Amino acid sequence: MRRIAIIASIVIMMVHPTQATNSMIGESTIQQALSALAQTHPQADMALAERGVRQLAALWLEADGHEEEFVDLVATQYIADAEGKKLLFDRLSYILEQCAQSADMLNNTLQEPTVLLGKGEPTMVDWIISGYSPMAHFAEDMFANKIAHICVLNFPAYTLDEKNTLGQQWTRLEWAYARMGEVFNTRIPGSVYAHSAQAMNQAENYISGYNVMMHCVRNEDGQALWNEPMALLSHWNLRDELKSNYAQVPNAREKQEMIYQIMLRIIHQDIPECVVNNEDYCWKPYSNEVQERESGVVVERGREPDTRYQHILNIFHAMQQVDAYRADAPSHVLRTFNDDLEITQEEIERLFTTLLQSDEIKAVAAIIRERLGRDLRPYDIWYDGFKSRSGVSEDDLTAQTQKLYPTALAYEQDIARMLMDLGFDADKAHEIQSHIVVEAARGSGHARPCVGREQPARLRTRIGGQGMDYKGYNIAVHEMGHNVEEVISLYDMDYYLLAGIPNTGFTEASAFLFQQRDMQLLNEQAKERGSKAQSATEVNELLDMIWGMYEIMGVSLVDMAMWQWLYDHPQASAAELRDAVVRIAGDVWNKYYAPLLGEQDCPLLGIYSHMVGYALYLPGYPIGQLVQFQLEEHLAKCSSPAEFAKEYIRIYQQGKLTPNAWMIGAVGQPMSVEPILRAVRKVL
Ligand SMILES: [Zn+2]
Repeated sequence: MRRIAIIASIVIMMVHPTQATNSMIGESTIQQALSALAQTHPQADMALAERGVRQLAALWLEADGHEEEFVDLVATQYIADAEGKKLLFDRLSYILEQCAQSADMLNNTLQEPTVLLGKGEPTMVDWIISGYSPMAHFAEDMFANKIAHICVLNFPAYTLDEKNTLGQQWTRLEWAYARMGEVFNTRIPGSVYAHSAQAMNQAENYISGYNVMMHCVRNEDGQALWNEPMALLSHWNLRDELKSNYAQVPNAREKQEMIYQIMLRIIHQDIPECVVNNEDYCWKPYSNEVQERESGVVVERGREPDTRYQHILNIFHAMQQVDAYRADAPSHVLRTFNDDLEITQEEIERLFTTLLQSDEIKAVAAIIRERLGRDLRPYDIWYDGFKSRSGVSEDDLTAQTQKLYPTALAYEQDIARMLMDLGFDADKAHEIQSHIVVEAARGSGHARPCVGREQPARLRTRIGGQGMDYKGYNIAVHEMGHNVEEVISLYDMDYYLLAGIPNTGFTEASAFLFQQRDMQLLNEQAKERGSKAQSATEVNELLDMIWGMYEIMGVSLVDMAMWQWLYDHPQASAAELRDAVVRIAGDVWNKYYAPLLGEQDCPLLGIYSHMVGYALYLPGYPIGQLVQFQLEEHLAKCSSPAEFAKEYIRIYQQGKLTPNAWMIGAVGQPMSVEPILRAVRKVL
């Protein structure tokens, strides 16, 4: 589940000192300000002061005042003594928390009719107000009243490289000061952000309505392989249907080949436009023949006009507008890695390609080949046979969860018990429960974090009239993993500015950590096994995990290479982008997949809808999986559930450090693929 990243959207926290291209403060004014500052604060650390002055100069706009006002603000608002600086920090922290929290509570209240069940049917105005953000103009307001200027001057920002090197010596307070430096260190007009949000929103609407009607699909003999009405959303449902055909079901291979063929048509955009989200036509994906469903008459219909790629271009062009305001990080690629993920692209590529080329992957592929009894096909990147099947049927589990959780409140009141089963002591378990509210959602469920310490984290889950079914329970435990992390990384924090985690991968790691223990929380006998992974299924889970990484890392490399290509070809048309993606996906395939799965130039890795709608979101997934694995490996060493819980809490109390600093603090070494490769070697 994608978590709603609220803090990030409230104060646009972008990491990096900005050199705006249109700054009006020249070098002579900067020097003038520095000598004025040296005069008023003879004891000041001038290197630190200069960093703040230069960052402020880069952000200063004509509307802020003349050069004299700049010099005056520097001389009067700079605080050189440690005590005064800490006081300023505390007051700014208080202001930020109060504003973010109040706005979020308002936002939450206004969204309730569209998000929650039992709040009545949402009307048109409810839908409109659900997109309203009370904090949208917060940064602009803080620049208007000069709080932002004071913040930048006294708390300058640091580059990723500086955080990873200087940060090794920093105290918690120095880390918090550095994070304060990131609150107002960019000044991008709201209209520019609105434009990129709109482009993303349109792309999201496009992918969320992209269904293939499987009951309308025909093989070349005119037979339907799917007889019941079935609309599959690309690529998620198509992939899951493909996966489900690894079980012993009729026509399994033919169905998988057919879904593969459909995916290729989508990537190439030669899919007939009329068969998307439409049941009026029958379609033969191999020959691409279209018939009117009712009359059976073969008709000529046009292909989809590269709409998929046009949406990507629209987002790219919107990001280029942001580039103009970020001289220090003038591309969406740089901002994604250096600001959001806080791992450089080079480092991520190194991690991914190490795993992709490893002998361990080759060995796992050999196991799959043996199990399937045939040569591998490209779609076997989604091989599903390692999933451990529970001995208990899903219907029995549902009967159990429905009885336990007839309402959202019943689940909420059971949180402390579940945490205690995992090893949390009673006080801590009840404290965490008191900060989580469980609500019945309209959608499949999500976690809404708390952004201030007077606010609960919210677990939104699906509860039917009969109570919570097993699927809903499984997702709820995942979301609870987000909530527990959110509560600890906010309520236990020494400084508000350090609340949170390095990036979204780290909250996903917690969510999966909990989700994997959902049976243990349900099953009395399993409790005795404590919090260690169940050894009987351990091997399968491990192989499933590394095969999943193999798949998503390749998909991520395609996403990354596509964005690089866009910046190298800013004038490209949608058709040119389409050809480039097919070629890029083929190149990645030839290098890391063709030797194991066959077929040269296969573009299958280009199927992910995230590439269309989420602008470089994909690399975050394998990062989350790596973090999760390293945490699991570390926590497995705990000798008792109590120790497990203590360690979990200690790790998530670190807050918003950089990923590598956080990992070193958590498990004693930076992010690495070596632990999972080592574990796979051991079981092979
Ligand atoms: Zn999640």
